[in-house]
Amino acid sequence: MAICDVCGNDYDKAFRLTQGGRSGTFDSFECAIHAFAPRCAHCECRIVGHGTEADGRMYCCAHCARHAGVEGVADRV
Ligand SMILES: [Zn+2]
Ligand SMILES: [Zn+2]
Repeated sequence: MAICDVCGNDYDKAFRLTQGGRSGTFDSFECAIHAFAPRCAHCECRIVGHGTEADGRMYCCAHCARHAGVEGVADRV
């Protein structure tokens, strides 16, 4: 049994995630995303896909990166 760090649910199929120097226990990907996913520096949505990193900031897509003034980024399709 493990308790979710985000919602406190005690769930037998909870899992642990490690990213860089931090880790957490979650009962669902929704809670894991809430705790771990970065926010787009332009539209502030949660970045669940690959995203785009430019100048040390994360964007959900190249469109947002370009809006924020980043040159030379393109979504890979
Ligand atoms: Zn949870
Ligand atoms: Zn965005």
